[in-house]
Order: sequence, then structure tokens, then C-alpha cells
Amino acid sequence: MGISKAEQIILKGISGSPGICIGKAYIVDREGVNITKRYPVSDALVPNEIDRFKQAVLKAKNDHAKVIDSLDKDLGENLNILETHMVLFKDKMLYGKTIETISKDKINAEWALRKVSRKVKIMFQKIDDVYLQARVNDIVQVSDKIMSYLVGAQDIKISDINKRVIIVAHDLSPADASQIQLERVKGFVTDRGGKDSHTSIIAKALRIPSVLGLGIATINIESDDFLIVDGSSGTLIINPDEDTLFKYEERMVKLEEYRAGLERDSHLPAVTKDGISLNLMANIELVEEVVAAKDYGAIGIGLFRTEFLYLDLKRFPTEDELLCKYKELVEFMSPQSVTIRTLDINGDKVNPYLTSIEEANPSLGLRAVRFCLENEDIFITQLKAIFRAAAFGNIKLLIPMISCVEEIIQVKQVMNKAILELEYEDKIFNKDIPLGVMIEVPSAVMIAENLAEHVDFFSIGTNDLIQYSMAIDRSNRMVAHLYQALNPAVLKMIKMTYDAAEKKCIDLVMCGEMAGDPMNIPVLVGMGLTNFSMNSASVPIVKRLIRNLDTKKAKNNVEKIMKLNCVQEIFDFILEEYKDILPFGEVDE
Ligand code: PEP
Ligand code: MG
Repeated sequence: MGISKAEQIILKGISGSPGICIGKAYIVDREGVNITKRYPVSDALVPNEIDRFKQAVLKAKNDHAKVIDSLDKDLGENLNILETHMVLFKDKMLYGKTIETISKDKINAEWALRKVSRKVKIMFQKIDDVYLQARVNDIVQVSDKIMSYLVGAQDIKISDINKRVIIVAHDLSPADASQIQLERVKGFVTDRGGKDSHTSIIAKALRIPSVLGLGIATINIESDDFLIVDGSSGTLIINPDEDTLFKYEERMVKLEEYRAGLERDSHLPAVTKDGISLNLMANIELVEEVVAAKDYGAIGIGLFRTEFLYLDLKRFPTEDELLCKYKELVEFMSPQSVTIRTLDINGDKVNPYLTSIEEANPSLGLRAVRFCLENEDIFITQLKAIFRAAAFGNIKLLIPMISCVEEIIQVKQVMNKAILELEYEDKIFNKDIPLGVMIEVPSAVMIAENLAEHVDFFSIGTNDLIQYSMAIDRSNRMVAHLYQALNPAVLKMIKMTYDAAEKKCIDLVMCGEMAGDPMNIPVLVGMGLTNFSMNSASVPIVKRLIRNLDTKKAKNNVEKIMKLNCVQEIFDFILEEYKDILPFGEVDE
């Protein structure tokens, strides 16, 4: 590999997923489509501006026609949608009004298009007709297409990348990240993003190094620049000098050896030094990850994030499609259990193909169970598929983002409707499956004892529990320093949830990323937690720590930790007490 003569630049960001990769940059920046400036256009230049708009429409339309021609004619409804888009390109509401706005307001074509498409969207959303409301998506997609030609942005598809590169993007949505083909992408870096965002969770699942929240990476990097991504420390080196490159190549080799050693031990049981057996399960996003989960020594799937199937399909799957996936998963894992979490869509997992909701605060909006209760048909379809799959293996049902008792009562009512439909349809199913709720909103912690009356288990989702209790957006790099798993407030909430589960004799699991970080394990085990689910690549390293841990010491230490004042004190205490068994430094020179 040749080294560029350009000057070396080092940028610090947030660790998205650990590991090191070295390679050439491949810039993917779709933000151009969204960043549109308003500027005035003189009378004399209005015709040019209109012409520019017409040219963009023509190009977008021609491209779209090519896509339709290349498609299989049996695509049914999907083909209809694309043909509808063809008509929308020249629709009076969008096309005619944009031209009118350019000449009336004397503004640039981008701003006029943006103004008109927003107006049309609002107008459609007000109409009380589900079909027409769904057409909003078509308008968004068509105007986005035209906009990308206007601003000269390339619509790069991540799945189309055909060489081994490191992706550099302003932002990558979790759905974008899930499109990454492992044989073509070594790693990725982004300007935006925060710790334990869903994008970082996908990177961990793919086991590719990533650094997020770099702020200015896309400004500093040109396509084909040479990069070193150190996902473990959150460092990006652009055009490294020879010494740095040599140092990182050596570290990469050591890291590989270290990981291979860990993986060799991954099938040893997760039993502490004093003989306490713990359960380590895996979090997965796609059914395909299940093989890796088993290889890493997970003893079940503690969290199946079902929304990625919906996000990738770009439409709502049918009951039979869902059943097929769930059945494959539970049969593969049987007799071990699979916890299927119902759709946790919106928040940062929004997809314009699925919902046309625009919210000022998406994380506080119609996300997860809130969306499902508003869209009962979609919820019932998923529940029916889960009950049917439960006839083939060991399934637990998990509901995300419960914030009050009423919601779980409502969920049970919808579950009953799903069961009645299955009975009526004479389908084979199993309704006797454990029901659990995610504890990931502070209100759920406060009413954990009440919630426990209605369910069989709790699953603590620390990713959101930290986000909502510290009031920080987990994908915002500006507040990433406040994303503190070991903050005394977070630890107290975990303890309260544990106590409520103990008192009410229901099971408790932790499935947030906190469970996959060895640094946190002594505290969690010391509190009494015994069930953990994590990204599968973390299972071996957490297992190794557990095998060296003494639970009596961990219990004593937790009493001291709970009296400490701030995260730094807690961090230092853990580092000092467990320095002999924590994995830090094992891979450094
Ligand atoms: C969590 O919030 O901790 C969790 C496991 O769910 P997700 O990361 O999908 O929001
Ligand atoms: Mg969550």
C-alpha cells in the first residue's frame, strides 16, 4: 500500500465499534440533499432558474424510467409505486407549483422545491385518509430525487460499493449501516453520531471498526485518501506518516491474535471464580447474525431488534414473511430461548418509506410501542407472526419503551385480538409465552413494582435509560460526554429495577450495551444481576472477566460504589479494584 505525501492529520471522535482498519477513503455524503440554502434570483435570471429546475426533473425522470425498465414486471405493488412516482415528476402540485414559486418569490429552484414539497406534505397529512396520507412518502421521494439533481449530489447506495474501502460520511443512519457489505467495507467514520447510537450497534454487530462524532471528517478527507481507523480509542488518522502506519499495522496483528485467543475460550461456561453461574446471551438485529452469536458462545438470543427487517425492506412485511424469519431463528436456537422485541421504529430508526411522521423531538415521540398502539394492524401482524413462530421453539415476547401501566394493559388487549384472529383463522400457534417489558424510560423504573404485576420479566435497556435519564440524545456527539453508564443516577435506577424484580419474583435481564463492557460487569454482578444480553462479539471478553470475578468481593464493592458521588470516582474505584482482571492494555505495545 502506498502512503500519500499529504500531511498527517489526527482527529478524535467517539468509539463506535472497536478494532483497527487501514485503507482508502470512500466519501458517501447524502446530506447535500437536505442542506439547501435560500437565495434571491434577479428578474433576468428567473427563466434560467426555471430551466435549471426543468433539467433536474428531466434527468430524475429519465433515471427513474431506467430503473422501472430494469425491474422484474412481477413486482406487483412495488412497481405500481414506482409508476406513480413517474406521474408525480410532472404533477401540477409539485412541478407546476415549484415553477410558479420560482417566478413569484424570485428564489432559487432548491428553495422553491423545498417550500412546495413541504406544503404538499402538510396538506396530505391533514386529509383523514390512510391511503392519501401514505402518498406523502411518494412526494418526499420524488422531490428528494429532483433535489439531488439540483444540488448535484450523487445518490450513492452503500450496497453498491464494489471495492474494499473505508466509508466516510457526514452521517449514517442505522438503516444505511445495515446495508454495508462486509466483503467491501473495512470500516466507517462519520461527522455525526454518538456512543451506543443504533449506528454504532450495527457496526459492532458487523464487527467493523468505526469512529463516530468526528465533526469535521468529511471536510478534511478526500476520496482515496489513506486512513487509519482506530475504533477502540475513537481515533482517525488521515494520510498517516510511515512511523504511524507501521505502529498501527503491528497493533492490528496483535489485536487479531488477542481476539483469536478470546474466541478460542468462548465456549467455556460463564461461571465466576466462586462458582456462580451467569447467563450471557446475544443481541441481534438480523436473523443472519445468529450463527455468529452461537460461535461467540451466547446461550440464547436475549434481544432480537426486529425493526431492521422493516427498515431494510422499506415496506411493512407480511405476517408470513415475518413468520418465516422468526421460525428460522427459533428453530436454529432451539432449545435455547429467543426474546423477540416488537417493532421499535421511529426515534433514530425512522424510514420515510414506512412512516411519514415528522416530529420535532423524535426520541420523545411516537416511537416503539407508542407507534404500534397507534397502528394496531401493523402491531397485530407482528404479534400473530410471533405467536405462530412460538409453536416451533422457545420464544419470549418483549415490548419496548413502556412508560406507564396503561400501555402494557393496552398491549395485552391487542395481543388478545391477535390471538382471536389466529383462532378464527385456525392457524397453529402458541400463546403461552413469557411477556416482558423493556425498562428504558425513567418512569418505568419508578413504577417497576406496578409494572411487574403485569409481566413475567424485565429487560433493562441501558442505551435508552441513559439517554432519557441524562436527557441526552444518544446519537448527538455534542453531549456524548454525558452518556455515562456508571453515573450514580443510572446505577441507582438499575438497582431499583433489580429490587422491584426481586420483590415481585420476576426475571430480570440487562440487554443494553452497558452489559457488553467489561468495566461495568463487576458492578452489575455485585448488584445481583445474573442475566445479560449484549452484542455477540462482546460475549467472549465478558465471559473471560466473569471467570476471574469473585461475586463476594463484587457485592462488597457495590456497597462502596453506591456511596460515591460521581462517575469519575466510580470509574477510578473500579479500575483500582479490578485492575488485575480488566482487559485494558492487553493489546497495546
Ligand atoms: C436499549 O435501549 O438499551 C436497547 C437495548 O434498545 P435499543 O438500543 O434498540 O434502543
Ligand atoms: Mg432502547
